[in-house]
Amino acid sequence: MRITSNTTEIDFAKANGLVPAIVQHARSGEVLMQGYMNQDALTTTLTEGRVTFFSRSKQRLWQKGESSGNTLSVESVHTDCDRDSILILALPAGPTCHLGSSSCFSADDLSHLPELERLQQRIQARASSQESGSYTAKLLARGSKRCAQKVGEEGVEVALAAATENDPELLNESADLLYHLLVTLESRGQSLNQVLQVLAERRTAASPAAE
Ligand code: AMP
Ligand code: ZN
Ligand code: ZN
Ligand code: ZN
Repeated sequence: MRITSNTTEIDFAKANGLVPAIVQHARSGEVLMQGYMNQDALTTTLTEGRVTFFSRSKQRLWQKGESSGNTLSVESVHTDCDRDSILILALPAGPTCHLGSSSCFSADDLSHLPELERLQQRIQARASSQESGSYTAKLLARGSKRCAQKVGEEGVEVALAAATENDPELLNESADLLYHLLVTLESRGQSLNQVLQVLAERRTAASPAAE
């Protein structure tokens, strides 16, 4: 843990004992959340290496992640020019916001991306259980040609919705398309990760996106 500026000189008195503390992702720089620290919270944060606030609603020390497990591991601690606020660079163990997004300041970001992983896992579970009532299981039982046909249909529906500027429909059909794409990948024994791998390779090779 790196500590810059003299955190023992933070002016808690000036702020009635509670100083705002901003937590930033140590690698990406994304602002994750803001809370308040008293002297105790700062000391705990420094000694345990986990971000700990003084919760104004709970009226006690609150270690972020104490019940969710979504802790913030401290990489470095900084103060500002007049030592009345704290900046912490940290690495999160999971989504920082209790509403599930990576940051409290970005409910609409890409934090729903793991939803695709979860969907793929459900599809894999249906595939192996061969539950007779499941739509996924039925579709997979009909083979990859039928799955592929569904991708084609949903793709056309996405295109139509976009072309007619029907945004709610566009979102719905896109969800259908993603689902059927995952089922089709599963039907061929391929995975989302392999697709993401292709994207990662394209990015590092800086080649233009497919047309
Ligand atoms: P946690 O500290 O993650 O175990 O969450 C414990 C409780 O603290 C949650 O039920 C929320 O009420 C609250 N909480 C957790 N994370 C945040 C956050 N980023 N901002 C505000 N409140 C939070
Ligand atoms: Zn200041
Ligand atoms: Zn939040
Ligand atoms: Zn559809």
